[in-house]
Amino acid sequence: MQTPRGARRTDTKLSDGRDLIYYDPADAPVRVPPADTRGLDAPKPQVQLRTDPLTGDVITYATHRNTRTYLPPADQCPLCPTKPGNPTEIPDHDYNVAVFANRFPSFAGPGRAEVVCFTSDHSKSFTDLSQGQARLVVETWADRVAELSARPDVEYIFPFENRGREIGVTLSHPHGQIYAYPFLPPRIRTLLARAREHRDATGGNLFADVLAAERTQGTRVVAENPTWTAFVPEAARWPVEVHLYPHRQVADIAELTDAERDDFAELYLNVLRRFDGLYGEPLPYIAAWHAAPVRVDRELGYLHLELLSIRRAADKIKYLAGSESGMGAFISDTRPEDVAETLRKAGS
Ligand SMILES: [Zn+2]
Repeated sequence: MQTPRGARRTDTKLSDGRDLIYYDPADAPVRVPPADTRGLDAPKPQVQLRTDPLTGDVITYATHRNTRTYLPPADQCPLCPTKPGNPTEIPDHDYNVAVFANRFPSFAGPGRAEVVCFTSDHSKSFTDLSQGQARLVVETWADRVAELSARPDVEYIFPFENRGREIGVTLSHPHGQIYAYPFLPPRIRTLLARAREHRDATGGNLFADVLAAERTQGTRVVAENPTWTAFVPEAARWPVEVHLYPHRQVADIAELTDAERDDFAELYLNVLRRFDGLYGEPLPYIAAWHAAPVRVDRELGYLHLELLSIRRAADKIKYLAGSESGMGAFISDTRPEDVAETLRKAGS
């Protein structure tokens, strides 16, 4: 077990042998984790990987996931702390951030799937966290990325959050997930191929050059601070899409400095509040960390967070229809410069 830089880590096991890790502020009292009394049977996930011969994309079949918990009532939430009558995935009566191996994993054997509970408060969302709480989540991500990177069966690590039933969330408790893939996901393969072409043609890093151009032009910048900038990309695919880049090229979250972790927490909360200000209600979103692969092309990758929403108006959802689903060709009815302008105003 390693010691994360800005947090106190306490490791324990659930009754079926899965790992549970509590992350607390570094100055918090030592946690003595209570036992999981549920007596669960060891999970037997059925996961199969196949490669599409036409595209080379890996497709994962995780058929055991069909039986997973679906939108339970709040008093039976499996991500809340344990209370009398509701023994949960987190046996302690309170926590700050908790991480456990998913009981219904998309990846197991090769790869791994983890759940990250952002707060013990069921009624909150990430947007409601204090900057200190958000920073503790960053510490948690960094520690998970460092540890999972050491596993021989992991090629790419993807921390992400789905928020909102419109996105397909099956548990409303504020949480994210980490997929440690045993292969390179298709989007990362595509981005790295472009980055390699760009380097061969110009000698520069594709992501660094895109960030520099956005900061120079400024029309799509939503918010910034000393070490991070948030902007709507020039060719955004989604009705609301914002990318958050550190100004310094780093391969993954574990490489961020303390100042960069603080500044990310500040900027991310800033952007999320603008999201929720757009239509006066919580905006469904997907937050997708992009980083360099664990083992290859470390110098080509560039850590950034892509934040996107499928909501295109207060009462309208963007569905992936013929062109997007059939051809992968996105057609958008919002102009990225207008979205950036709206988001700049939404926070004021
Ligand atoms: Zn809950």
